[in-house]
Amino acid sequence: MVDQYGRHIHYLRVSVTDRCDLRCRYCMPEEGVEWLAHSRILSYEQIIVLVRVLAGLGVDTVRLTGGEPLVRRGLDHLVGALKAVDGIRTVTLTTNGVLLAQQLPALRAAGLDGVNLSLDTLDRGQYAAITRRDLLPRALEGLEAALAAPGLRVKLNCVPLKDNKDQWVPLAALARERALDVRFIELMPIGLGKGLPGRTQAEVLSQLEGAFGPALPCEQGGGSGPGRYVTFAGFAGRVGFISAVSHQFCESCNRVRLTATGFLKTCLQYETGVNLKALLESGADGAALRAAVEGAIFAKPACHHFSAAGTAEDEGRSMYQIGG
Ligand code: SAM
Ligand code: SF4
Repeated sequence: MVDQYGRHIHYLRVSVTDRCDLRCRYCMPEEGVEWLAHSRILSYEQIIVLVRVLAGLGVDTVRLTGGEPLVRRGLDHLVGALKAVDGIRTVTLTTNGVLLAQQLPALRAAGLDGVNLSLDTLDRGQYAAITRRDLLPRALEGLEAALAAPGLRVKLNCVPLKDNKDQWVPLAALARERALDVRFIELMPIGLGKGLPGRTQAEVLSQLEGAFGPALPCEQGGGSGPGRYVTFAGFAGRVGFISAVSHQFCESCNRVRLTATGFLKTCLQYETGVNLKALLESGADGAALRAAVEGAIFAKPACHHFSAAGTAEDEGRSMYQIGG
């Protein structure tokens, strides 16, 4: 469907849990996290009902996220059910990769189309410092399993920080040997990200050009997102930038988010949207759900204001509660 600014909304991120097996410093506090009770989280059946409503309004792509989506049991069943929804063409997953190697066969069998794996460093000590868990070998096993799966679209996502500056080149170099997209996603001032100095696209690009020579234009696309891609001489894959802070892309935004608690969130930065779980549980029928979704999407905010002062509607939750 089209919102009040003429943007075609067809991409839905669904957060299936707020729980996670890592504690990335920019996303989740080390301690004191109060997990949502099961009763507050959308059941898979509820997710399927809501995705049917959204698919009826033109959503064709679903990305499962969290928290860490693979810590929720039976995710392959959800993938299979979503792939069977009329109008849904693509179902993908964003994961830290730690549980991926063991779950990938079932996810693939269910029809999973792609995996975005979040990995900020290839250095084990640095990984343990950033994620507060010494699990780099497991994440790398997950990456290898994904790269070995025929036909699976794989992207690697890194948030450039002061602490992983020496890893931007080694991470990008993974796209030299393999037909992989390595993307640098600027840290956004949301949740714990507010307190940390992120690094910009310009800084990363300058370091990569120092190592690999001038960035070369390449084919864009291959996904539903705002990534802008370049490549380097001798590279099999691409390097992408998702730069919400330094290169705002709200004009071409095509997405909405469903939080684990069933709130349809229409912009990453604001708390605007509609509580679909409450509506479902109050007995709303398909027409009422559709009207609520249509109203919320139509009113989607024009853009974020990451670089300006806060407003009363600003998102108070952290990324693990929203789904990234
Ligand atoms: N646990 C999964 C993972 O890490 O891929 C999925 C959820 S996580 C919230 C989704 C993405 O959000 C990850 O790539 C993570 O690096 C990113 N992220 C978390 N906090 C962020 C922030 N403040 N700014 C930019 N990206 C952030
Ligand atoms: Fe967990 Fe992903 Fe947040 Fe890291 S970024 S703490 S892996 S939800």
